[in-house]
Amino acid sequence: MTADRRDTDVVVVGAGPAGLMLACELRLGGARVLVLDERTGPTTESRASTLHARTMEILDSRGLLAALGAPPRDARGHFGGVPLDLTLPGPHAGQWKVDQTRTEELLGDRAAELGADVRRRHRVHEVTVRPDGVEAAAEGPGGTLRVRARYLVACDGEDSTVRRLTGAEFPGRAPRRELLRADVRGLDIPDRRFQRLERGLAIAATRGGVTRVMVHEFGRPVRPGGGQPDFADVVAAWRRVTGEDIGHGTPTWVNAFHDANRQLARYRHGRVLYAGDAAHQQMPSGGQALNLGVQDAFNLGWKLAAVVRGSAGEALLDTYHDERHAVGARTLANIRAQGDLLLGGPEVEPVRALLTELVALDGVREHLAGMISGVGIRYDAAPGASPLVGARLPDAVLTTPDGAVRTTELLRGGRGLLLLPATAGARALADAALPWGAETDVVDARPAPGSGLPGDQAVLVRPDGHVAWAGDDAGGLREALGRWFGSPPTA
Ligand SMILES: Cc1cc2nc3c(=O)[nH]c(=O)nc-3n(C[C@H](O)[C@H](O)[C@H](O)COP(=O)(O)OP(=O)(O)OC[C@H]3O[C@@H](n4cnc5c(N)ncnc54)[C@H](O)[C@@H]3O)c2cc1C
Repeated sequence: MTADRRDTDVVVVGAGPAGLMLACELRLGGARVLVLDERTGPTTESRASTLHARTMEILDSRGLLAALGAPPRDARGHFGGVPLDLTLPGPHAGQWKVDQTRTEELLGDRAAELGADVRRRHRVHEVTVRPDGVEAAAEGPGGTLRVRARYLVACDGEDSTVRRLTGAEFPGRAPRRELLRADVRGLDIPDRRFQRLERGLAIAATRGGVTRVMVHEFGRPVRPGGGQPDFADVVAAWRRVTGEDIGHGTPTWVNAFHDANRQLARYRHGRVLYAGDAAHQQMPSGGQALNLGVQDAFNLGWKLAAVVRGSAGEALLDTYHDERHAVGARTLANIRAQGDLLLGGPEVEPVRALLTELVALDGVREHLAGMISGVGIRYDAAPGASPLVGARLPDAVLTTPDGAVRTTELLRGGRGLLLLPATAGARALADAALPWGAETDVVDARPAPGSGLPGDQAVLVRPDGHVAWAGDDAGGLREALGRWFGSPPTA
């Protein structure tokens, strides 16, 4: 039975963190969006529990932090189990403990508020790509829902149905090793931060009466057939590694994750794009997986909305692949390195000892903290461009005619932003930007010394908070505006 037919601008498959963030950004950019998800609501699985600094900054730049309340924060992170202090400049440094369920609720509420049509209990099983659009069919409570859209974005997780239906190439490494995990009530065991014992690795942390244990036995490959373990498997492995019995505890969740490491060859296949775990599969080491996906969506949302509105050409969508594939490749490489450090046996001890020495050096520590937290991401910039270009706008206080304001607050509307300096050439720069008035806000801004922003140059910022251009010549500004915000209607 065909229950319904819908036309929309963008159909998003998957209402996980990536799909919901994308829906928010598409709506903010004025696109019509329909999100289809087979689940009845936010995940009930025990999954990610960490938001990193860049994701917190992103939520802040859309005014979403207040709704999160004050989650616990810990400056202590790790790189493959080697302790790593995540302290960096800015208000959001550190790991914020937010369960994935809460993140999905937050983004789901926001998407609904912004007018996204989110349909739960709809399983997409058919995708047809045509030259002028995409059709998808989903099985829902009322029968088959057929959707026609201009673009489809697959945010349907690591076992992506869309990837399978379209046959998109997903090269990489098959799982070799795994960590068994259980959330258990009624245990009284010491917390263990990456304790390396003779026979394996043991991790335990108790929060709110629930102990999360994770265990890996050195040299042991993934269990034949994969699948989820029983609590008895976790109990046995824990006993072999630590000598402790946790069998009397009550498991509330048991699973395993492995070290498969794959990335789509292309994040864009014409009118079908991929974001989040649908685009990359990785061990969730250091809590990077969810953050990477949310940041994919944040990069794609404004671009796709601009293309749908007609203000930018399709070439803008290729920058999504260029930028996020490169970030993904780098993150997956650091996760492979962490996998070896974490799950390798005594043979990795010399490398661990060396890394422990290296992270004591400030430059190394900051580099790794920037990588794990996402604040160190810098998209490719033209040779000779200001070092600001490609990096995210630092969270800094500016003096404006309306008073002091944080840079993050100026991004709330999801539009471009031109910060004008207090120089004689500022008027000419403002005039150059006039034709793009519908796309960008122009602000007279005086950065405080030490803010990381120049006082004598204009800074053009994309809606995702990354700097598109910095300089003082009107020609350069026009070129950058044209590249990122399309040709103005009057050009
Ligand atoms: C078991 C497990 C444990 C994890 N633990 C951690 C952890 O401890 N720390 C960490 O940082 N990360 C962890 N992760 C990773 C983290 O959960 C993911 O990186 C994150 O969920 C990715 O977000 P996403 O939006 O890309 O995909 P997902 O969150 O997987 O969302 C995909 C969505 O698509 C929907 N969907 C799938 N197929 C269809 C279809 N055919 N039709 C309609 N809807 C569909 C699903 O219902 C789901 O809602 C874990 C992942 C798993 C699987």
